[in-house]
Amino acid sequence: MGRAGARPAAPAPVTARRSASALEENVAGLLADGPGAHRDIEVHDLRLDLGDGLEQGSPIDGSIRLARTNRGLVVTGHLRTTLREICVRCLAPVEVPIAIVIDEEALPSIDLLSGAPLDPGVDPEIVRLTDHHEIDLEPLLADAISLAQPIAPVCRPDCPGLCMVCGGELAVGDHDHGEAPIDPRLEALRLFEVDESGRTG
Ligand SMILES: [Zn+2]
Ligand SMILES: [Zn+2]
Repeated sequence: MGRAGARPAAPAPVTARRSASALEENVAGLLADGPGAHRDIEVHDLRLDLGDGLEQGSPIDGSIRLARTNRGLVVTGHLRTTLREICVRCLAPVEVPIAIVIDEEALPSIDLLSGAPLDPGVDPEIVRLTDHHEIDLEPLLADAISLAQPIAPVCRPDCPGLCMVCGGELAVGDHDHGEAPIDPRLEALRLFEVDESGRTG
């Protein structure tokens, strides 16, 4: 891809790549540059297989910065996408915009000059570079998306939800059922039969 020499002034685009290592970056050059150096990675039109019942609505866009520290790298990112969710009040499908924030430290596994293995350390939470000085940004991105998932998505802030009497959406139609409320079980059955026959008569 010719991206090995990417410099901060000319961020390399990452476009619509889907393989397991779609976002694997070799950072040997960045590590050699020493503390203070950084590399920006622009992300456009990226789709990931998120698993965990998470479904992306629109592509991921934004940027990720890899900054060299005296210990390794700090990875920061500000990106956005949407997730396909279900409104918790009316059960309608809803696409929720989310902000993806990455803020992680990544440390080398081996010494850049000597190649000697470095102490894996005590903190298993810290991201490790591979023996070839590569970092896979995809798991970081997937984790950040998972953290940004809304707990109780709604189709709109004032969604009134479903009618207690007929089960229909309160936002649609007249729900003044008067003094003789329809049994919701019978109502569901009636709607089912209409759907089956394909007629409304
Ligand atoms: Zn709703
Ligand atoms: Zn109703």
